[in-house]
Amino acid sequence: MSVFKPDILAGQVAFVTGGATGIGKQIARTLGQHGAKLAIASRKQENLEAAVKELADDGLEVWFDVCDIRNPEQVEGTLAGLIQHYGRLDVLVNNAAGNFPAFMDNISYKGFRTIVDIDLLGTYNVSKAAFTAWLKEHGGNIVNITAPFDGMGVSLQAHVAAAKMGVDSLTRSCAVEWGRYGIRVNGVAPGETSGTEGGERFEAAVDMRSGNNPLGRPGTRSDIANAVLFLVSEGAGFISGQIFSVDGAACIDMLKLPPPAE
Ligand code: NAP
Repeated sequence: MSVFKPDILAGQVAFVTGGATGIGKQIARTLGQHGAKLAIASRKQENLEAAVKELADDGLEVWFDVCDIRNPEQVEGTLAGLIQHYGRLDVLVNNAAGNFPAFMDNISYKGFRTIVDIDLLGTYNVSKAAFTAWLKEHGGNIVNITAPFDGMGVSLQAHVAAAKMGVDSLTRSCAVEWGRYGIRVNGVAPGETSGTEGGERFEAAVDMRSGNNPLGRPGTRSDIANAVLFLVSEGAGFISGQIFSVDGAACIDMLKLPPPAE
């Protein structure tokens, strides 16, 4: 049951990169359930087709394209196809990302570069293509999915943290440069999120206590999707250039003490 009105995105089109799996699929579903027509894109056609079927079973309209966001020409082609299909674009969610937990000396040069290529340059490629193809003339919303690493050193995630902090910088720069075109740009930084491959890979690598944050539970994909929905809604109409951690206060909990014994 959503706390938002079911038609707050009626008439709008939302594009979610990496929208066939994990958090991205839930973001797409949530935006669709509030009236948006959906577009999703990533590299694996079989994942996209499965997600389109699942979302269509929920009564949602979804267009998809196979696209590697590292490739600017492919990205421009996807944006052109999307605009041709729907005739507009209102919301872009840069969600696609790569991740693997590894200590820095075990990350290959290629592996580090790949994460920066997908997370940071991919976000730039898609944002620029969406801006040029549609948003510059018509305005809209961009939400970049990042990670709550600001000001931190992050073991096993040096590559991801470097890329995501670049994404946060890009979020602020885009908000400042593109505000005059009626474009708001914000970031959502999920903490540990249950039911995601990325989260499970990380937990397995570090034997992390699940729900190790002041709220005492892992986040859900819906927690993240609801934050995105709020940010692209009229309710957030004067919010731009901000990064919202959705992590149960984990990122500001310096001591991370376990709860006192009862
Ligand atoms: P996920 O299930 O692994 O999804 C990542 C998506 O990105 C996949 O659908 C993948 O599809 C797509 N993708 C990867 N490389 C791509 C490329 N080069 N071009 C186009 N698409 C590409 O990840 P998730 O755990 O849901 O995470 C979603 C977002 O939340 C990411 O930005 C992640 O950094 C962030 N986040 C997640 C957590 C967590 O606990 N899960 C925590 C903090 C931040 P293909 O393989 O088909 O390309």
